Amino acid sequence: MIFKVLAAGELEKFFELLVVNKLIGPVERGPAVDGRLLFDFAEVAEIAELRLDFTQTVHSAKKYLLPYLEETGVFVMEGSDWEKRVDYGAHQPLVLFGLHACDINALNKLDKVLLAEPYPNRFYGAKRAAMFIIGHSCRPTPACFCRSMGADSVRHGCDLFLTPLGDDYFVEIMSSRAFHIMESLDLREPTRRDHKRFQEQAKHRGNLLTAEVDATDLTKILDMEFDSTVWNEWGRRCLSCGTCAQVCPTCYCYGLEEVVALDLAKGAKIRQLYSCNLLDFAEVAGGYNFRPESRTRLKYRYYHKHRGFVEAFEEPLCVGCGRCGTNCLAGITVPEVIASVRRGEVENG
Ligand code: SF4
Ligand code: SF4
Repeated sequence: MIFKVLAAGELEKFFELLVVNKLIGPVERGPAVDGRLLFDFAEVAEIAELRLDFTQTVHSAKKYLLPYLEETGVFVMEGSDWEKRVDYGAHQPLVLFGLHACDINALNKLDKVLLAEPYPNRFYGAKRAAMFIIGHSCRPTPACFCRSMGADSVRHGCDLFLTPLGDDYFVEIMSSRAFHIMESLDLREPTRRDHKRFQEQAKHRGNLLTAEVDATDLTKILDMEFDSTVWNEWGRRCLSCGTCAQVCPTCYCYGLEEVVALDLAKGAKIRQLYSCNLLDFAEVAGGYNFRPESRTRLKYRYYHKHRGFVEAFEEPLCVGCGRCGTNCLAGITVPEVIASVRRGEVENG
């Protein structure tokens, strides 16, 4: 990896180089009902719109790779002929500016599933290849437990990563594309003092990570506690609303629907992101639902993320961003659920 230092005054020049493309970054969205300031990713045209001091966006950058609704193919009839049209939706380069380590690691996890042969998701792959990603160090919230999930720092998955050091930015250059873009900027070699400041920043950030999940032997404990009564209590609380999957940067489950025009001249196959907590997620042809209870659906979500995915890829399908807990109307958080499985009871249950 190549380390450089960029004077903060050069950031605008860097932004101007990139904004000739469509550029997405964190913007402010006003206060939530509890007074918290809300942020989200959106298209940005001026550097002043960027809120690089954001804590957490409501949605992750997943929405630019896995849109909520996506046509996977359109069928058009012309006379007795028909034509299939496929549009991967990657018409122009997209710059993602300001992703935190957890969200970059979330994309790395999605890559493992969605780019894997023999059936890669070409819609996801085309968009991922057209992206230039700039990471930015974060301001942890009390809900963040990324360190427990090994997702609090980035080794790959972006083009470069910025860490503010007072008046400067510590720059980690991770791709040749980034290297060539940075050549036109006024960069300097980091000094011993810069390295120290970078490490102090990392330590300070680590001290702010107060939430945690004990992942020791978690796959085995989940196997042992499959019939634990804690799932009944969490199932009783869960509203089966699907919000957790909607905001989660690593949830990728979907449903496919075919729609046909009344005159049969056109049809489309539409992919829609879905949630394993929704009532009909496990409903099959004939109307049989093999997970009709919220406790089994909620349990499945935890077993997929913290057991099945770990067995397949040696890592959890969770980056500890805390979004699911922050946005759950029932107050269900990953640290609480995992701790309750270990304890054998739900606090205030
Ligand atoms: S865990 Fe929370 S956010 Fe997820 S489906 Fe249940 S109530 Fe909704
Ligand atoms: S499960 Fe929750 S904490 Fe984990 S990545 Fe998804 S939204 Fe973030």
